[in-house]
Amino acid sequence: MAVGSMEVTFLGTSAANAYPEAFCRCANCTRARELGGPSLRKRSALLVNDDLLIDLGPDAQTAAQMHGRPLTTVRYCLQTHAHSDHLDASHLLSRSPGWGVVGASRLHFYASWGTLRAAAHVLERDLAPAGLLAPETGEFLNMELHPVEALQTFAAGPYQVTAFAANHDPMVEPLLYAVQRGEHSFFYGTDTAALPEEFWQALHRHGFGFDLAIWDHTYGPEEEERDHLSAHEVMAYAARMREEGLLAERGRVLATHIAHEGNPAHPELDAFAAQHGYEVAYDGMIVCLNEVGGRGG
Ligand SMILES: [Zn+2]
Ligand SMILES: [Zn+2]
Ligand SMILES: [Zn+2]
Repeated sequence: MAVGSMEVTFLGTSAANAYPEAFCRCANCTRARELGGPSLRKRSALLVNDDLLIDLGPDAQTAAQMHGRPLTTVRYCLQTHAHSDHLDASHLLSRSPGWGVVGASRLHFYASWGTLRAAAHVLERDLAPAGLLAPETGEFLNMELHPVEALQTFAAGPYQVTAFAANHDPMVEPLLYAVQRGEHSFFYGTDTAALPEEFWQALHRHGFGFDLAIWDHTYGPEEEERDHLSAHEVMAYAARMREEGLLAERGRVLATHIAHEGNPAHPELDAFAAQHGYEVAYDGMIVCLNEVGGRGG
């Protein structure tokens, strides 16, 4: 792989309750069950090359195995927030030689304080008495916690990362991330509702021209933006990024975090998106940022 290139694998592309939802017989969930394939979505997570994970979600390990990208080589995790569809903190218990885990590389885990506190609360009983945030627990789990704040830029191994504040549950201080390696970069924009002008100005201050922008698409074309973005905002954001030079010339916009509310099964949703300047990600989709412009495999 060329220096600076990045291969992005979508491990999951659904909103909170997966798609189809376990007990739902709505038209969208029913059609997704009939079609299978890209219409079946696991909870959102993204793997970059084989060493950077965005969101250690409830389906991350299952998805990684299904799509032939085991997480054993992951050394960096950027956690957007602590909601249960993005963080299953019990996966962190699979790291300790003390519990028989063999060969795990040291994990650098980046998250806001709000998210770290929420994760610590979930693991209170498993990691008693010290708890997740104690230095001795870090050693026990063979990991380092790195608290990060909005607008902070930091190095995660070979990646340069900038965090942005999401418009989402303030209790867990949710973050969105821009990830850069060499001349390539992408933006991961879920979970969030509509973003304020300050966010856009911050992107400009950093001079980003992303190869790839990935957006929250919780609600479909028939739905309004509420606590998350809908198709209408993704369309508008795709157009704005192109107009303002925030996307590279051949840059792509992809939708993820897709709920059954107003989002049809994959073929119909992807056809809609193609008419409106973006594409719809699916589980197992791979995008190579050194050859952005072609369709991902
Ligand atoms: Zn979510
Ligand atoms: Zn449904
Ligand atoms: Zn959330």
